[in-house]
Amino acid sequence: MSSLAHPRVAAASAAAVPYWIDGRRVAPHSARVGRVMNPSTGDVLRTVPLADAADVDTAVRSARAAFPAWRATTPLRRARIISRFRELLDAHQQELATLISEEHGKVLLDAMGSVQRGIEVVEFAAGAPHLLKGSFSESVGRDVDAYSLQQPVGVCVGITPFNFPAMVPLWMLPVALVCGNTFVLKPSEKDPSASIRMAELLKEAGLPDGVFNVVHGDKETVDALLAHSDVDAVSFVGSTPIAKYIYATAAARGKRVQALGGAKNHAVVLPDADLAFAADAVVGAAYGSAGERCMAISAVVAVGEAGDALVSQIAERARTLKVGPSLEHGIDMGPVVTAEHRARIVGYIDVGVAQGASLVLDGRGITVAGYERGFFVGPTLFDRVTPAMTIYRDEIFGPVLVVVRAESLDEAIALVNDNPYGNGTALFTRSGAAARQFEQDVQVGMVGINVPIPVPMAFYAFGGWKQSLFGDLHLHGLEGIKFYTRTKAVTRRWTADPAVSPHLPTLG
Ligand code: NAD
Repeated sequence: MSSLAHPRVAAASAAAVPYWIDGRRVAPHSARVGRVMNPSTGDVLRTVPLADAADVDTAVRSARAAFPAWRATTPLRRARIISRFRELLDAHQQELATLISEEHGKVLLDAMGSVQRGIEVVEFAAGAPHLLKGSFSESVGRDVDAYSLQQPVGVCVGITPFNFPAMVPLWMLPVALVCGNTFVLKPSEKDPSASIRMAELLKEAGLPDGVFNVVHGDKETVDALLAHSDVDAVSFVGSTPIAKYIYATAAARGKRVQALGGAKNHAVVLPDADLAFAADAVVGAAYGSAGERCMAISAVVAVGEAGDALVSQIAERARTLKVGPSLEHGIDMGPVVTAEHRARIVGYIDVGVAQGASLVLDGRGITVAGYERGFFVGPTLFDRVTPAMTIYRDEIFGPVLVVVRAESLDEAIALVNDNPYGNGTALFTRSGAAARQFEQDVQVGMVGINVPIPVPMAFYAFGGWKQSLFGDLHLHGLEGIKFYTRTKAVTRRWTADPAVSPHLPTLG
C-alpha cells in the first residue's frame, strides 16, 4: 500500500488553511480541496482550498478597492509599514521556518536561512522612497521643465513555487507594496501556511485591509487570475513549461509579466582549483534542501585532471550526509516534497543507469527508521554523464548530481552555453584570467566565482537568462522597482500670471 494512496491524517492539525482577503481569514466558495503533506512522515497535515473563479474575483476586487487609498499613501508611510513588517519577520523567523520545514521538508536551519534571505528583500524595500524619486531636468525650454514620475502599476499577482514558501513571495510583495501596488498572492498549494502567517504579520505591521490578499489553488486558480481584467501585473516563479505558459497568456491579455523558470546549474571545476574546497561547496549546493533549489548545482563539469579526485571527494563527503526528518536536530537532508516527486526522481536515476552513466552513489531505496512513510531519496551521484543523457538534459529537482568531463575551460563554457537553462553557474579556480573569461562569456544570469550558489543580494536583481526567465525584468533590486512601477514623463510649463506677478515676463 503506497503512502500516496492512503495517507494518514494528523488529527490534531488537519484544519483547512484559509484564504486571506480584505485583512482577514476567509473560507472558500470553491468546494475543491488539496492536501498539504508532511513529507517527513507521509501524513496529511492540513487541507487547502483550491480557489475557483469566484474566490479569485473576491480577492482581486478587494485588492482593486484598496488600491486608490494605498496608492495615495505617502511612500514614507508605506516604507514605515514595510520596516515594521521586517521587525515582525525577525521576531517570527523561527515560527515561519518551522512551518516551512514541516510542510516542505527542508531542515530547520535551511528554512531559517531562506526566511533570512526574504527579510533582506524587505529591508531593501524599506529604503524604496529613495528609488521612487524619478528624475528632473530644469529649463528644457523657456519656462519649461521635464521630469519623470514612478507610479504604481495597480493590482499585482504573485504565483510562487513550493520550494521557497516565504522567500520567493518576499522577493515580490515588499517591493510591490512599497511602490504603492496592491497584491494577490497565489502560493504553492503544497506548502501554503507561511503565506497566511506573513499576511497576519503585514496586518499587524499596519498594512490596510485589502492591500495584500492570499488565495490558494492550482491551474484553475491561476487561469482565473490570468483572465481577470482587474489584474495589471503578474510575477511568476516556478518550472519552465508553466513559466512560458504564464508569460504568453498574461502578455496576450495586456498584463505586465515576469516569469522565472527552471534551471540546470553547472559548476565548472578547473584543475587548479582547491579541490577540497570545491568538493565541500558542491556537496552543499547539490544536496542542500534535497536539491530542491532553483540555484542548486545539479551538474558539475570537471575539467582535465580535476575529474577523478573531485568525484571521489564529492562521493566521500556526500556519503556522510545524514538523511532524516526535517525538524530533527543534526539532520543534513530532509525528504523531497511529495511521494509523486520522489517517484519522479527515482525514475530519473533508473534512466541514468539504463543510459549508461556510472552510478557512484545511489539514493534509491533509502529508509529512515521511524519514518518509513516519508518521501526520502538519498544523495545520488553519477559520473561520466554525457550531454545526450536524460539526467543531464532535464531538471530533476532532487538530490541527484551529474558529473560531465571536459578537456578545457572553452569546452566547459560551451557546454554551459548549450544548455537551454541559464539561471546560475559557478566556476572554481585560482586563476583570475580564467574567472574573467568565464564571467564574460557565460550565458547565464547569475555567476559565482568560487561561490557555489551565487544568489544576488536584495539590492541586486535576481533572475536567469534563456529558458530560466521569460520577460525583461528580474526580481527585486532596481529591476524589481522598475517592474512594479510605471514611468510617467511630464513636460511642464509654468508661465507667470501677470495678475499675480506683474513684473515677470509672460509667454509669447
Ligand atoms: P510549478 O511550476 O509546478 O508551480 C509553480 C506555481 O505554478 C505553483 O503556484 C503552482 O500551483 C502553479 N501551477 C502549477 N501547474 C500549473 C499550471 N499547469 N498552470 C498554471 N499554474 C500552475 O513549480 P514547483 O514544482 O512549485 O517549483 C519547482 C520549480 O520552480 C523548479 O522548476 C524550480 O527550478 C523552479 N524555481 C525557479 C526559481 C527561479 O528563481 N528561477 C526559483 C524557485 C523555483
